[in-house]
Amino acid sequence: MNTARLHQRFLLCSGVDTDTRNIRKDSMFFALKGTNFNGNEFAGEALKQGASYVVVDDKKFVKNKEHYILVQNVLESLQKLAIFHRKYLGIPILAITGSNGKTTTKELVHSVLLRKFKTIATKGNLNNHIGVPLTLLSMDDHTEFGIVEMGANHPLEIEFLCTIANPDYGYITNFGKAHLEGFGSLEGVVKAKTELYKNLQERHKLIFLNIDDEVQRKHENYNHTFSFGESNEADVQLSYQSGLANAQLNYNNTDFKSKLTGEYNAKNMAAALCIGLYFKVKFEEIQTALSNYSPDNNRSQTLNTASNTIIMDAYNANPTSMHAALENFKQLKTNKQKIAILGDMFELGSSAVTEHQIIANYVQNSDFAETYLLGDNFKNTNTSSNFIFKFKSIESLKEHLKETDFQNCYFLIKGSRGMALERVLDSIKK
Ligand code: ATP
Ligand code: MG
Repeated sequence: MNTARLHQRFLLCSGVDTDTRNIRKDSMFFALKGTNFNGNEFAGEALKQGASYVVVDDKKFVKNKEHYILVQNVLESLQKLAIFHRKYLGIPILAITGSNGKTTTKELVHSVLLRKFKTIATKGNLNNHIGVPLTLLSMDDHTEFGIVEMGANHPLEIEFLCTIANPDYGYITNFGKAHLEGFGSLEGVVKAKTELYKNLQERHKLIFLNIDDEVQRKHENYNHTFSFGESNEADVQLSYQSGLANAQLNYNNTDFKSKLTGEYNAKNMAAALCIGLYFKVKFEEIQTALSNYSPDNNRSQTLNTASNTIIMDAYNANPTSMHAALENFKQLKTNKQKIAILGDMFELGSSAVTEHQIIANYVQNSDFAETYLLGDNFKNTNTSSNFIFKFKSIESLKEHLKETDFQNCYFLIKGSRGMALERVLDSIKK
């Protein structure tokens, strides 16, 4: 079936589904394949659950012509449908990529733009070759503005996602040491992330820039930019406050406060402020949107127990975000005892040994009362401090935490997703 006809049917549906555990009534089910599953096998079940159509690419699963749509490749059909739908919508789309802070920035920008436009943004972290099409297909005739998070761990992924989303605006949060396995080096990261700039420049679209960022500054000469930063060359000149428990910035003699921990989040807020001002969202509305935004999913959250405070940042980690979190923790003004609980950082390829040692050296030279390190990579680092403790397993770490009576402590909990360090929370919730 050609894409135009598929789109006609899609418009009659309530949306797109890809998981039979979550089928909405009258949706269009795309039978995607994964390493361990073949969606074609679930097509019948999707119809039973209420889908109107199922898109499959194996004719032996086709039971009738009414509800089954046979295509050559389900994933490609999904992507082509998204491209077609994006053209059909004709709305402005903002793409957000970068090494760290994409989801947080996307959520902040979303909160701000919602004050003026009917805005749809990427749900959660659906930022890849499947998530981007799904995001576009979640927009409809009522949508006035779209925000699309784009993630990548290999070169040319962002370029490809741009061909699907065809963005009118773009913002790159930062360039950091994330996914070094796929990008090779920090230069590799810069090259891959700036595929977004390249795409926008070629089509004379606008780029939002954090002018304080060395790499972003280089793109200042391009004529379609709107910038923010502490530099007086910025279109939106602001200042960041450090040492506070929560991120805060000042613009136009007004403080913008947030519930997010970490000074780095002030940059994410600044991006949302800059984008809001560009689209003429009212100043007070931006302020309220930013201060009301509450993080979830263990990203930059502050939790309070009876006698302790916890920065819960266990959602993810890579060398750049780990360093940013530690630096923020170091700067934090508090009379509580600081304790860092850190887990291994993944996907670093041959840089793993060096990057974990850099972090180990950092905590060794910090004034944290204690640091607990978990994971094989951290286990192999060289440390000589009596205040650094290494644990072989999450169980032994939890055991130790349970046995210790922590009073008046400030914890930072951070590690890669695979470490799921939020599991220690129960052991220190006193
Ligand atoms: P993913 O690659 O999983 O999609 P992401 O880029 O969407 O990640 P977030 O989920 O927003 O990033 O944040 C993940 C973690 O990155 C946060 O918990 C925080 O520690 C860190 N982080 C967020 N913003 C920044 C920033 N501007 N600079 C450095 N680190 C940041
Ligand atoms: Mg994300």
